[in-house]
Amino acid sequence: MPYNERFDPFWPEKMSDTNRPDDNTADTGAKPSHFIRTIISKDVAAQKQGGQGVTRFPPEPNGYLHIGHAKSICLNFGIAQEFTGQTNLRFDDTNPTKEDLSYVKAIQEDVSWLGFEWAHKRHASDYFEVFYRCAVKLVKQGQAFVCDLNAEEVREYRGTLTEPGRPSPYRERSVEENLDLLERMRKGEFEDGSRTLRAKIDMSSGNMNLRDPAIYRVRKVPHQNTGDAWCIYPMYDFAHGLSDAIEGITHSLCTLEFEDHRPLYDWFLDQLDMPNDAWLTEPLKEKDLWLQPSRPQQIEFSRLNLDFTVLSKRRLIQLVEENHVNGWDDPRLPTLAGIRRRGYTPESIRTFCEEVGVTKSVSIIPMGVLENTLRDDMNQRAPRAMAVLKPLKVVLTNYPEDQEELMDAAVHPQNPDMGQRQVPFTRELYIEQDDFSENPPGKYRRLKPGGEVRLRHGYIIKYQDVVKNDLGEVVEVHCTYDPDTHSGLPGASRKVKGTIHWVSAKHAVAADVRLYDRLFTEANPLGDKERDFKEFINPESLVEVQNAMVEPHLAQAEAGDFFQFERQGYFVLDPDSSAERPVFNRSVGLRDTWAKIKK
Ligand code: ATP
Ligand code: MG
Repeated sequence: MPYNERFDPFWPEKMSDTNRPDDNTADTGAKPSHFIRTIISKDVAAQKQGGQGVTRFPPEPNGYLHIGHAKSICLNFGIAQEFTGQTNLRFDDTNPTKEDLSYVKAIQEDVSWLGFEWAHKRHASDYFEVFYRCAVKLVKQGQAFVCDLNAEEVREYRGTLTEPGRPSPYRERSVEENLDLLERMRKGEFEDGSRTLRAKIDMSSGNMNLRDPAIYRVRKVPHQNTGDAWCIYPMYDFAHGLSDAIEGITHSLCTLEFEDHRPLYDWFLDQLDMPNDAWLTEPLKEKDLWLQPSRPQQIEFSRLNLDFTVLSKRRLIQLVEENHVNGWDDPRLPTLAGIRRRGYTPESIRTFCEEVGVTKSVSIIPMGVLENTLRDDMNQRAPRAMAVLKPLKVVLTNYPEDQEELMDAAVHPQNPDMGQRQVPFTRELYIEQDDFSENPPGKYRRLKPGGEVRLRHGYIIKYQDVVKNDLGEVVEVHCTYDPDTHSGLPGASRKVKGTIHWVSAKHAVAADVRLYDRLFTEANPLGDKERDFKEFINPESLVEVQNAMVEPHLAQAEAGDFFQFERQGYFVLDPDSSAERPVFNRSVGLRDTWAKIKK
């Protein structure tokens, strides 16, 4: 199990078990309701906490946000909007060794991109002085002590799930001695790991989190927000609830692994009684950070899990740092930066989060569900265009050499409001190599010797012969076109079996296309036991195509513009594009090809 310093300097985080009964989701209102909405609406109606619904999204700036965080963002911001409350963006930055300003910036970008505005942007570290006062108050109340046990000893004294712990020999230090030692910890008199401040709760509690948990540890490292101001840092469990209270948060929504931490969350808030002790929050007034404090309530919901990917910053960092992908915004990653570059829209992510719902039951959502959300969104909104990924030249031998036509085509077949586009048509065209076969299988409906095929938005063409190179490969197909078969002409209704896409060779724009697919070949790359998930990276998760040929107007597209390439899928223009060379990313195919392969 990974060592998680955020929760305890000496003890790894204990994860809650995973099987939980589903909650009873009440069904009221237009939006599909869920238990958290029900709780908050009841509290607001009962004028609890002044009838407010104030929430926060509290990322630790130790990596980029992923689609799991989007669930939390949509929930926190969405629910506050419903109850005319506010949502703060708070960087939970109590663990300076892993945090970085670049992550702080990226997180803000991602939250804004999803379409949410925070009421206040804060750092837990903005409240370090308040936390310290809280610690002093606990010491004065006889509820915290400075402990000299080292990591190993603390572990030994802690007991196990079946055996109670033993009290630290330092547990009964006097208030005066504790105050003195705490102050000296702050001043930097003691080395890392030599002393901690611990809450005095219950060494025999069945909940290990209550066995005198650490509140402060010594860490002589600079902090991305507070620099060298501090050399002791508060533990997550201590800082989190206090930050909520400081910001007037009414409902503190978090994922299920914090359920066992809730008694501790409540204990700190109850002992400190922040709303009724102005001395505690006084330091904020000087910094203009003061808000009316609250007594928040923690409510847990289940994390989003998705198959065929990994949703954990710790693992995402490995993929990035070991160059398995090209940076945090690689379109194969489930990071918000990655899926944005992949072509996901904020709307599709918000819809997805609404659809997966909010419960306490643990489940794994199939990747196909996420992809379908994008497909649905794109199907409604993406302008259509033709792009030939692997070009094969077709020459229409009976088409006048210097003739050019502009074919009228709908930008979107179901949405006339999106207008028409004009696609140039000439004697020499490109079609997809796959759309011609010299020796076709039985039901081949595309171009073949002796056959006819309709060119989308154009004419019916008929095979004539092929030109081959020295290797015997087909380099050109010669056809004749039937001038009577363009739409609006008498022959337009003539039926042929297949329709294929094309671009005019003279007008086409060369582009690079990155065909992205799922990052892993296994639904659960982590497996049941610890194994190296990176062994299951899909070698075809990125296939690069150079010199695809696309409709000329696509040269004007801007990064982030999305299209349906007819018959191919949905594509988005990548920021790597230049004026000379557009680069398109495949966001998702037209159909779920994994559905039949994998299940
Ligand atoms: P990771 O395990 O990926 O590092 P984390 O939980 O440590 O994630 P935080 O930065 O602490 O990341 O998360 C900020 C908020 O987002 C927390 O409230 C957390 O509960 C929530 N969150 C994180 N992952 C998910 C997820 N997969 N589904 C829903 N909410 C999540
Ligand atoms: Mg984490």
